[in-house]
Amino acid sequence: MKSFDLRQFRVITLEDVENAVKAGAKELLVQSRAILTPSAKDLATLKGLKVKGGCCDDGACGSCSTGSGGSSPTLSNSEWDKILNSPEAEKIKAEIVDVGRKLWMRQYVDGNGGNISYRIADNAVICTPTLTSKADLKACDMCLVDLEGKQLAGSAARTSEILLHLEIYKAVPEAKACVHCHPAHATAYAITGRVPITCVIPEFEVFVGKVALSPYETPGTKKFAETVIPYVKKHNTVLLANHGIICWADTVTHAEWYVEVTDTYCWTLMLANQLGSPITHITTEKNDDLLELKKKLGLPDARHDMTLEECRLCDIPEFPGGIAVVPSRISGGPAVNNPAPGEVDAIVKSVTDAVMAAFGKS
Ligand SMILES: [Zn+2]
Repeated sequence: MKSFDLRQFRVITLEDVENAVKAGAKELLVQSRAILTPSAKDLATLKGLKVKGGCCDDGACGSCSTGSGGSSPTLSNSEWDKILNSPEAEKIKAEIVDVGRKLWMRQYVDGNGGNISYRIADNAVICTPTLTSKADLKACDMCLVDLEGKQLAGSAARTSEILLHLEIYKAVPEAKACVHCHPAHATAYAITGRVPITCVIPEFEVFVGKVALSPYETPGTKKFAETVIPYVKKHNTVLLANHGIICWADTVTHAEWYVEVTDTYCWTLMLANQLGSPITHITTEKNDDLLELKKKLGLPDARHDMTLEECRLCDIPEFPGGIAVVPSRISGGPAVNNPAPGEVDAIVKSVTDAVMAAFGKS
């Protein structure tokens, strides 16, 4: 069997495995604590290459990537540099540059606001630098941090808001990318303490659906970062009170799409409210089809675990300047002032009565 010797490397990237494939190798010889980046591991598996000499010979134990959570493995600066400059990281950095440009073009960020990140390995995250307009991002300015926010590589300083992204990566294993920004319409909801109603537009239901609203804390602090923890497992989109929005997804591009979907939806609801007529809702039965599709796509939604009665709350019509329901408190999370289902009916009835009485008088 033709072996390809990579024992001189501690970190093995996609490029190294590609070279081995080109040389016709059937197995890779690696040192005992070698780290294969995810793409390197994927290509080795795809090509049926045996990985010999690592902590596990088939490279499937997980320890062959950059550790599994907790503290970062002890790599040298040049080894972390190698990860940040690997072909797979270059692709991600280019995608982050493109997404930053989209955020700026759509006016979702201003000044140096907003930040973007991607988890390239279990305990290594590529993120945007601090004090840079998202229109002016350059791949060479990107940073690499561990899950505690310690900078591992990159010459520019990391964004101070990376802690927010890191709490999501720690809480949600499926989260690979996060986008945080301040789009005007979604932020208008966030500063009025509201979340958009549901069961109105199918695309929003499938890709975002129930949005959470996290309480206000000073941006950039650990306390601020932790405000999202109770929500992110069941919501891919969280409005940050008096601040903006954060979305997570499997790719940076998809996380940006969720920002677009949410902001456009908030905008549409605002326009519809100005028309003065009640918004027509998708029926609960038809919306169940959308939730079923959403489940198949593997997208989170708090309603996946709700009873039918709780779910029917989204049929409540929104009056101009009407009531929006904040998602249910998730155990362990900060208390939010959630009315019980019966109370919501009572509130809606009393508001309707008051409005009808006012019309009657005029
Ligand atoms: Zn911000």
